[in-house]
Amino acid sequence: MGERLEFAEKTETDASNPFIPKFESFLNEKCIKDIQRLVENYPQKRSLSVDFKDIELFDFELADELLINPDYVLEAANEAIKNIDVPALELENFAPHIRVFNLPQEQQPLLRNISAAHLGKLILVEGVVGQLTEVLPKLKIATWECTRCGNTYKIPQSEHQSKPPYICECKHRSFNLVAEDSEFVDYQKIKTQEPLEKLKGSEIAATLDIFASDDLVNQVSPGAKTRITGILRLLPPKDKKTVYGKYLEAVHIEETMQEFDDIEITPEDEKEIRELAAKPDIYELLVKSVAPTIYGHETIKEAISLQLFGGVKKILPGESKIRGNIHVLLVGDPGLAKSQILTAVHNIAPKSIYIAGKTTTGAGISATAVKDDFGEGGWTLKAGALVLANGGICLIDELDKMDAEDRSALHESLEQQKISVAKAGIVTTFKTETSVLSAANPKFSRFDQYTSFIEQINLPPTLISRFDLFFMMKDVLDRKKDEDIAKHILKTHQIGEKMWLERKMKKKMSAKDKEELERSITPAINLELFKKYLSYARQNIFPVLTQESIQALSDFYIGLRDQGRKEGNYAATHRQLEGLVRLSEASARVRLSDVVELKDTERAIRLVKTSLQEVVTDPETGKIDIDIITSGQTHTQITNLKKILRIIKDKSSEIDDGMVPIEDVIGESKTEGIDSDKVREILTKLEKAGDIYRPRHGVVKPTSKR
Ligand code: ADP
Ligand code: MG
Repeated sequence: MGERLEFAEKTETDASNPFIPKFESFLNEKCIKDIQRLVENYPQKRSLSVDFKDIELFDFELADELLINPDYVLEAANEAIKNIDVPALELENFAPHIRVFNLPQEQQPLLRNISAAHLGKLILVEGVVGQLTEVLPKLKIATWECTRCGNTYKIPQSEHQSKPPYICECKHRSFNLVAEDSEFVDYQKIKTQEPLEKLKGSEIAATLDIFASDDLVNQVSPGAKTRITGILRLLPPKDKKTVYGKYLEAVHIEETMQEFDDIEITPEDEKEIRELAAKPDIYELLVKSVAPTIYGHETIKEAISLQLFGGVKKILPGESKIRGNIHVLLVGDPGLAKSQILTAVHNIAPKSIYIAGKTTTGAGISATAVKDDFGEGGWTLKAGALVLANGGICLIDELDKMDAEDRSALHESLEQQKISVAKAGIVTTFKTETSVLSAANPKFSRFDQYTSFIEQINLPPTLISRFDLFFMMKDVLDRKKDEDIAKHILKTHQIGEKMWLERKMKKKMSAKDKEELERSITPAINLELFKKYLSYARQNIFPVLTQESIQALSDFYIGLRDQGRKEGNYAATHRQLEGLVRLSEASARVRLSDVVELKDTERAIRLVKTSLQEVVTDPETGKIDIDIITSGQTHTQITNLKKILRIIKDKSSEIDDGMVPIEDVIGESKTEGIDSDKVREILTKLEKAGDIYRPRHGVVKPTSKR
C-alpha cells in the first residue's frame, strides 16, 4: 500500500500550516455568529462569506499572504473553521468553504490586463456572463482498481486530468475507474466577458473562463454582471501544444445588476451635465450630436436621442412591469445611411451592441442552448446580443434578414423584456431590458409609393407594432436636396483627407478648414460628456406626468381613436398611448426635469404623428390607419376584399356548379368603384387566404357558401 500512502499524504492538509491558528482566532473573533448560523443550516448551506477588509483589519499579514498564496492560506482557513467551538457543532463531515470577497483595488485587474503575473494569486474580476455550461459532475476523489489484482486506491484528483496511481503493489500499471465508489462534485464553467460599457468604440471584449464548483454552481445567469473572486490557474494545452490557457477557479461569486455603474460621474461632471441640460437649445444640440457626419434626417435623430434617454420603467404592485425602453425602426431604400446611423449610435450609447440580422455567431441575437467544446459534451447556454446589451441599446441592422427563431425571440423581448429558452430540458429566461434600434430594407429593395408600407417590408406586422416609432426613408429625386447631401458628403471626405495630412504629414489645417470641421461634422456635445449625461439622466431622473400632460396625451389619443371610429378602422391602439408616455418621459429627462411638461408631450405627439403618417397612411385615402400595422392591410383593402368575396359568393349561389367567371366579378366590381387591376390583385389575395380557388382558367369558386 506504499504508493497509496504517498499520494494520500501529499493531499492531506498540512497540520503545521501556520495560518490555521491565525484563521482560528480571526473566525473566533469576527465570524462566530455567522458560523453558528452556518452550522444550523449545514449542509444546505456550505459556505461562509468573509469580507477581505475584515481580515485586513484583523491581521494585515494574514490578509497579504492570502492574496499572494491563496491555495495555502485558504486551505488553512477551511481547516480552521472545523476547529471553531460553536454550540451544536457535532456535525460529522463539517467541511464548509471560506469564500472571500471585496478584494482591494490593486487585486482587481481588467479582464484584458490579466497576465502571467496573476497566476496562482487571488484576484477579483468583473465581467458579464456570456456563456454557461450545465452543471456537470467532476471527479473529486477517484477510486481506481488494478486490472490485474483488483486492489483499489482512493486518490484525490487534481484540476483537469484524471490521475490513476502510478503503479500497483503487484507492479501492474493499468487501472479502471470505479465510478460508483468515487466522489464527484458539482461543477460549472462560465465564460465572462468585459462589460460593454467599459469598451471604447468597437473594441473586442476580452474574456475569461471561470470554473465554479459545489455551491457556487448556478449562482449566475447569462447576461448577468458578476464580480468573481478566484485563483488564476493555467489550463494545460490539449495535444502537445505549448500555449497554455488560463482560467479562474472561483472562490466567491456575486451578481451585480446596476445599470451603467461603470461610468463614473464626478461632481464636476455633474455640474457640466446640469449646465448642458439647462441650455435652451439642448434638443437641437442632441440632434446635432447623433451621427453628425450624416446630413439631414433630423426627425430620426431626434427620435433616437429620446430613445437614448429612455422612458421610465414601472414596477406595479403584483410585480407586473411596464417597459420604459423605447424601440425605433428605420425602414428605407438602400444607401440612405441607415447602417451609418446605427454605427454612430453604437459609439454614443454607454452600453450597446451592433449586430446584423444574419449573424454567424451561435448565440446571435437572442439566447440559445448549444452543445459544443466549451460545455465538454454537455449543453452550454449562450447569451446573445439582446441579453448582453441588457440595460442598454441593441442595434439590429438588416432586420429583414433575420431568421425565424431569432425573430420570435425579438418579438418576446421587445414587449416582455425577457427571452425564454426551452431546449433539451433546460428551461430558463433571460432578462433583456434592452431598447432596440433597428434598420430594414424594403422587400423589393426600393419603396414603391403606391403600395402600403407593410406589404413592402418583409416583417410580420405584429413585430413592427412593437416599435414605438417607425420611420420610412425614401430616396426621392429632389434636386435641391441632392445638392445639399452631395456637398455635405464631399466636404466630409475632404475634411477627412485633410485630417490625414495633418496627422501623417504634419501639414497644418487652415483656420477655415478647422472652422468647417467644427461646424459640420464635430458633434455638438463631446462624446464622453454625452455618455455621462445619458447615464446620469437614466440613473437619477424619473419624471412624473402632470395633470396637464395627461390631458394633452389623452386628447391626442382619443382624437386618433375618434377618427378611427368614424372611418371604422383603428387609427391607434393602446400601444401607441404607452409609446407616447415613454417619449414624453424621455423628453423630460433631457432637461433633467422631474415632471413631464406640456412641451414634452408636444414633442412626443409630433414624433408619433410623423411616424404614423409616414408609415400607416392608407395610400388610397390619405388617412392614418393602424390596421396596416396590426393586420398588414389597410381598412380600404379589407373593405374591398370583403366586397369582392361577397360578390363571388352571391354570384356563385346563383349558378349550378358555383363557378363564377372572373369577367363577371370584374364587371360587378366596377359598379363598386374597384378597377380591374385591383380586382385581380384581390383575387390573388383571396386565393392565398384560402377563401376562393380556381377550378380552371378564368373562373373562381368560393370555398364556403356563406
Ligand atoms: P444603408 O444602410 O441605408 O443602405 P449606408 O449606411 O450603408 O446605407 O450608407 C451608404 C453611404 O452613403 C454611407 O457611406 C453614407 O455615409 C452615405 N450617405 C447616405 N446618406 C447620407 C447623408 N444623408 N449624409 C451623409 N452621407 C450619407
Ligand atoms: Mg445598410
